[in-house]
Order: sequence, then C-alpha cells, then structure tokens
Amino acid sequence: MASTKMILDLDTGIDDALALALAVCDPRVDLIGVIASYGNTLVETSAQNTLNLLHLLGATDVPVYLGESHSSTTENFNVMPISKSIHGDNGIANLLLKPATRTIEQTSGIQFLIDMAHKYQDALVYVPTGPLTNMSKALEIDPKIANLIGNTTLMGGALTVPGNVTPFTEANINQDPEAADHVFTTQENLTMVGLDVTLRTLLTKNETQQWRDLGTQAGITYADLMDFYIDAYDQLNIDHHGAALHDPLAVAVAIDPSYVVTIPLNMHVTFDETTKDYGRTIGDKARLLEPTTTKIAVSVNSQRFVRDFMDFMVAVLKD
Ligand code: CA
Repeated sequence: MASTKMILDLDTGIDDALALALAVCDPRVDLIGVIASYGNTLVETSAQNTLNLLHLLGATDVPVYLGESHSSTTENFNVMPISKSIHGDNGIANLLLKPATRTIEQTSGIQFLIDMAHKYQDALVYVPTGPLTNMSKALEIDPKIANLIGNTTLMGGALTVPGNVTPFTEANINQDPEAADHVFTTQENLTMVGLDVTLRTLLTKNETQQWRDLGTQAGITYADLMDFYIDAYDQLNIDHHGAALHDPLAVAVAIDPSYVVTIPLNMHVTFDETTKDYGRTIGDKARLLEPTTTKIAVSVNSQRFVRDFMDFMVAVLKD
C-alpha cells in the first residue's frame, strides 16, 4: 500500500508532464492531487494540460486545483518567450491532447494544500516544480503548515552551479524570488533539488524511442513531448547530449532521498531587484548558527535514477 500522500504543484510544462507520470505510476506514492501554477504556461493552461495528461495516463481519479495566476509582487503574468521555445506555446510541445472529461476543482489549490497539511501531516509530501508562489501564499494564510507537512521537495535554485536565467538565478526561483525567500526561511523539512543535480540527469532520443516503440497513445505522446524538449535543448545550446530531467528528479528524491547527496544549510533568496544577484539561492547568513531546516542536493546517482525512471515510465506508458 502506498503510504506517501503526495501533492504535486506543477506549471505543466514538458518536464512537469514527466514528473506527473512518475508520480502516477510509482506504487509507493498515493497522488492525492495536483495544484496548478503559472510558469511554463498560464495557470489555466497548466491545469488543463495536467487534466489531459492524467486522462491520457488513465489516472482520472486525481483532482486538479488552480493555484495563483501570477507572482506575489506582480499584477499579472505573461509567459516568457524562452519558456515557449523550450515547452511549446501551450506548454506541451504544441500537441493537442484529447480533452479530459474531469474538470478543474472548485476549491483553490492554496486551500487544498492547507487542508491536506492538517489532515495528513507527516505522511504528506509536497513537490512544487514551478514558482513557489502557491506555497508562500499558503504559509501566509496558515503559518502552522510550516511544520505540519512531512517533507517539501522542490525543483528550483542553484547553489554550486550557475543559474539558467542569470549567472545567479534559476528559472523557477526567478518567477517569484520573494515567495521563494518566504518558503526557504519559513518552511521546515525542505529539500532543494536544483540545477546542481538536475543538469546531471539527461534523457536522450535513445530512451524516448523506447517509449515510441511501445506503440501506445501514451508512449507516442510522451516521446513526442520529450523529443520537442530535447530538440529545444539542442537548438538553444543548453545541452547537445540530451535534456535534463529537472522535475521528475524532484519527485524521485521525494520518494527516495538516497538518489542524491545533500548538505544541511539554511538558505534564503535575494530579491532586491537593484542587485545583480537578484533571485539567488544562497546560505542565509542570519541563520548560519540556527538548526538547519533545509537540505540541498549537491550530487546525484544519475545512472541509477535514469534507469529507475525509464523502468517506471515504460510500465506506465505500455498500456
Ligand atoms: Ca516545472
């Protein structure tokens, strides 16, 4: 029986789509809901992409909730051109998926997160793979969730490598550095899965061909999604060897932390727009002597992760 109650918070997004599939198929996980975020797409597009992907994967029992539509410091949100280049105009490689019969839940994603934190407490694992706006908002409304949620494993940030938006700043953090700082300085039992490790987990067309060869609708769709992403990585000179498994690695680490080596360090995020290190995830000087609440992944067993990831994906895509 799955003992881990997982909530994903996705800005779906191609690697979010992979993270979703991994959470759906891992028998150790009970995926109790997905919160949609803005980021790779607008929030409504992200929610509908998630619903359609869950439909494709046969996981129609998973509810999808709307999160915030923009950052905590702006009035609205426009998708960045680079996001469209990497994920397609609609976030999912411009593919037109069969629409889900299920619709978006009426409850807000923020309220859902708060309710589930109280209900499941230590058994709840929360995995945000987009901006941290939703979690920051939930913490603002109900600060108690900071030590209720069993573990939060986020995809974002960069400590030992440069960022991918600026030399200091990673894309998810860049969307809302102030919210990210609120989460890093408030939330307990936090694990950061950032570029330090995700850039070392690459998938190539050799692997996606295995999905395509399954001949199923899900296999072909996921191969099309990932090939678009691999081509974008190549064309944008991000990586010519393959594309990074950012978001699925966060899900995998949330289930099995032994994929990575972590260091304990209290972190904060710089959000002064006048400084060149805007959006940097870095050790919090003010809390260096305090007990640590955050673990930072700095090394990963990529071979083992990619092998396990492929085993799970083939299992979920084959029927
Ligand atoms: Ca994402």
